[in-house]
Amino acid sequence: MSCGSPGPAGTPSTGRSCSPTSARWARVADPRPLLSLTWYAAKEIRARDRVTFSAERLDAYGMPAPRVEYGLTRADRAIAARAAELVSTVAASLGEATPGGEPRLLPAGSSLHYQGTVRMGDDPRTSVCDRDGRVWGVDNLVVGGNGVIGWPTAANPTLTSAALAVRSAAAVARMIQGV
Ligand SMILES: Cc1cc2nc3c(=O)[nH]c(=O)nc-3n(C[C@H](O)[C@H](O)[C@H](O)COP(=O)(O)OP(=O)(O)OC[C@H]3O[C@@H](n4cnc5c(N)ncnc54)[C@H](O)[C@@H]3O)c2cc1C
Repeated sequence: MSCGSPGPAGTPSTGRSCSPTSARWARVADPRPLLSLTWYAAKEIRARDRVTFSAERLDAYGMPAPRVEYGLTRADRAIAARAAELVSTVAASLGEATPGGEPRLLPAGSSLHYQGTVRMGDDPRTSVCDRDGRVWGVDNLVVGGNGVIGWPTAANPTLTSAALAVRSAAAVARMIQGV
């Protein structure tokens, strides 16, 4: 017997032999390729989005428990609606949607790109550190990582964080050398 996953419509099966179990799956499974589309959109900065730490409650590590303040603005919702339209258009041009596969806004944090908790900037009133990662008002504290990215991004952030960390490291070297 030969079976295996048939290729896209009109192309032959791979013709490999397989077990009775996989032969049964090959009969019930939809053989068409399934594609998942994800649209990332930049989030508008809200001054009140922040992480605060509880004075009373501790987390699982015994550290002050964090609390995340985060919300979408009207502009964010408009961009998300536009992204849903675009992804639907692209999906329709590629093929048929699966039942329940309509675009939806994923829960906050789903991108895994948490940013801006110690944002850098030029104004101590609206940022935590300067452009070299030096925390305002503390001479010997330099921060790095995604937290310093204080502006909207849609693409993956790690390369940006790494580039900023290199710049901060150069500033630390200058501080140590006293230049
Ligand atoms: C599944 C997954 C896939 C991802 N894919 C991508 C991708 O393709 N491209 C991309 O750009 N980004 C991706 N990211 C995001 C990427 O991982 C982050 O952007 C990046 O790791 C952030 O770097 P960071 O230095 O800011 O934080 P982290 O990498 O989280 O580093 C923080 C460090 O601090 C340590 N730490 C925390 N608390 C303490 C403490 N109290 N004392 C001492 N140390 C502490 C932690 O152990 C950790 O090592 C992905 C993330 C996930 C989870």
